[in-house]
Amino acid sequence: MIIIPIMISDMGKSDEVVTTETCIIGAGPHGLAAALYLKQADPFADLTVIDRSNEWLANWTQQFKRAEIATLRSPIVHHPAPNPYALTDFVTRKNFSRSDLPYDPPTTQAFSAFCAEIITEADLAPPLIAAPKSVRSDHNSIKLETSSGIIYAQNLIIAMNPHQRIIPQWTWNIIGHQAGLIEHAFDVDLPNMPDLYGQRVVIIGGGLTGAHLARNATQRGASVTIVARRPLQIRDFDTEPGWLGPKYLNDYHADSDATRRIQTAHDARNGSSIPGWMLNSLTEPINGLSIEILDSTEVLSAQPTPPKGCVLNLSTEEEIYCDQVWLATGTQSSLHSMRWLQPILQDIPTIDGLPLVDQSLRLGPHPIFVMGRSATFALGPAAGNLWGARQAAHRITTAITGLELGSDGSAHSSKPRNINS
Ligand SMILES: Cc1cc2nc3c(=O)[nH]c(=O)nc-3n(C[C@H](O)[C@H](O)[C@H](O)COP(=O)(O)OP(=O)(O)OC[C@H]3O[C@@H](n4cnc5c(N)ncnc54)[C@H](O)[C@@H]3O)c2cc1C
Repeated sequence: MIIIPIMISDMGKSDEVVTTETCIIGAGPHGLAAALYLKQADPFADLTVIDRSNEWLANWTQQFKRAEIATLRSPIVHHPAPNPYALTDFVTRKNFSRSDLPYDPPTTQAFSAFCAEIITEADLAPPLIAAPKSVRSDHNSIKLETSSGIIYAQNLIIAMNPHQRIIPQWTWNIIGHQAGLIEHAFDVDLPNMPDLYGQRVVIIGGGLTGAHLARNATQRGASVTIVARRPLQIRDFDTEPGWLGPKYLNDYHADSDATRRIQTAHDARNGSSIPGWMLNSLTEPINGLSIEILDSTEVLSAQPTPPKGCVLNLSTEEEIYCDQVWLATGTQSSLHSMRWLQPILQDIPTIDGLPLVDQSLRLGPHPIFVMGRSATFALGPAAGNLWGARQAAHRITTAITGLELGSDGSAHSSKPRNINS
């Protein structure tokens, strides 16, 4: 990486010009997988990683801390490192306790310690703090203008998890009325909240984030109601395991109708779900308090009740009063939420904000690759999960280096191949 400090007079501060082989935007699990695969294929790979934070996995770690999530949902073989068994070996070697849950998901603590170790072992520098502002591509290289300077790169990997939060319309009536009356689940920071004891909290949504919040808020003495549109969906994983292999993916890839393919992927995710062990723990009293679950129920409208709280009118004609509403209503992935990418996206067909990428996850003729849910067209409904991180990192690494890592992550079985064939 070459860094040339230059002065941009109207900004009055030193800005940088960076020239690099590969720029990765986003230092979450997906960006980390890309960096690790590229380093595995070529230990001298020249990478520049940018993020809002100068720490790896800052967003991931914050989400788990805020909702006090003690274990992952996915099994222990899913993580950012190229060798699927690396986390299992790490947990054994370092004597970390197992979660003892079905399918052996790792504990959050073991996953974090593991990621810290693989980042150190791969000698990955902390991300540079920068946000993209505009991009230009001549089909062979890109120029990325960021909030901290300009990056010239031969390849750009977008691993930013671009999404919009789903905010139901009925909330508009109560947003901005009282501090803390309504929060998105990602903003609920349990360890740093005022005392929840005796608070009536309504959580909207029947997914796992909401369920963790419900359980942990009850633990803190809150009286919690979950309101979910459908009966709670009980699934071990958020996507059926058949979507991680040929069982479903063969037919998916064989479907030449792009719109139907994206629809199939949406249907396969089929909204939010929770594993059976979580349902059990929601239905058992916690410190003498029970969580109320109102499923097949929608909130139709809400009215603030000054000086505090609000009333929610439900589709069951019931009314419930609460002090706080937390929206665990999920997110929608969309590349279009990134305005800086618009000049590139003009040439790329998208359906529901998802680009129709090729097998190497490349955006048309540009040396720009996508990871996460943006790779759904090629990878299927599990693209946004940790499984998808490794699949995407594998394909993008092959496209960039011409080398294909072995299924155990080894670089020895590499074979050059034409990525566009
Ligand atoms: C609570 C929770 C638990 C989950 N548990 C699991 C699980 O157990 N197993 C599983 O497989 N999946 C799980 N997922 C799904 C998925 O793996 C996570 O959402 C994961 O964080 C996605 O990784 P990512 O790298 O795509 O996104 P992120 O972790 O969100 O990382 C994206 C990075 O991009 C950066 N960024 C974004 N915009 C900009 C910008 N404009 N400029 C600079 N940087 C930017 C962010 O700061 C962030 O660091 C979970 C999701 C959630 C919300």
